[in-house]
Amino acid sequence: MDLGIKGKRAIVSAASKGLGFGCAEALAKAGVDLVICARTQETLDQAAEKLRVHGVDVTAVACDITIEAGQKQVLDAAGHVDILVTNAGGPPPGVWSDWNRDDFIKALDANMLTPIALMKACLPSMMEQGWGRVVNITSQSVKAPIAALGLSNAARTGLTGYVAGTARQVAGSGVTINNLLPGIHATDRAVSLDTGVSKAQGISMDQARKNREGTIPAGRYGEASEFGAACAFLCSTQAGFIVGQNLLLDGGATLATI
Ligand code: NAP
Repeated sequence: MDLGIKGKRAIVSAASKGLGFGCAEALAKAGVDLVICARTQETLDQAAEKLRVHGVDVTAVACDITIEAGQKQVLDAAGHVDILVTNAGGPPPGVWSDWNRDDFIKALDANMLTPIALMKACLPSMMEQGWGRVVNITSQSVKAPIAALGLSNAARTGLTGYVAGTARQVAGSGVTINNLLPGIHATDRAVSLDTGVSKAQGISMDQARKNREGTIPAGRYGEASEFGAACAFLCSTQAGFIVGQNLLLDGGATLATI
């Protein structure tokens, strides 16, 4: 399927690995030029090389996207932006009584205020040109809370509320904003979550993964490439009537009718 976005220019933040990389690769396959970022230069450069194989222009910016200076570096490198995919690392797990104000501020910065700042920077020119696509990577935890990820539940729900209103304010200018909600996917983040379970329960990593897979109707973890394909579709010309939605990619794990 031709997504109709060949030659467009996208920022994909936190994209050297995992879901961000999956989105960047799917956009690259659709002919989109990319500005990607991550904090670690070496893995970022490796990711950029893999993306260039698809014949698109890739600029790699090593920075922390959750601070203003990092956001400025990425926005300056991009210049004109047609497509924005926001992503950052997720907050650590814990118990409700663990988290203090600083922990919340950090989580809000990473998973709510950073995507909002990037949208505020990119939306005006998208609206002016009458076309734009924004996809925010959030989490299944927006739909059904994951108790141990209270920082994530809180920050991402705040972002979701902001998007719900803002998407309706910009849709008339040809700009869509939607959120993708990952359930468990086979990335480094999943390895780190399984490591926590394996240590806490005294079981092997394989067993921890098998136990988690048993809770998913699809019987497996998602792949970053599947996630990326959904992202690329939301960025396509054909997806212009999809506005302010929260699309769950979780293999059926969240038990809900709608
Ligand atoms: P991942 O495999 O660990 O990859 C994270 C990527 O983000 C890496 O490229 C990392 O590179 C970059 N990154 C992290 N913090 C950054 C920062 N402050 N500034 C710039 N780049 C940064 O994680 P993932 O599984 O793709 O998860 C992506 C997001 O989806 C996370 O917020 C996660 O909580 C959420 N999520 C994931 C799952 C899942 O099952 N995988 C499920 C629900 C939600 P550097 O470390 O070099 O910066």
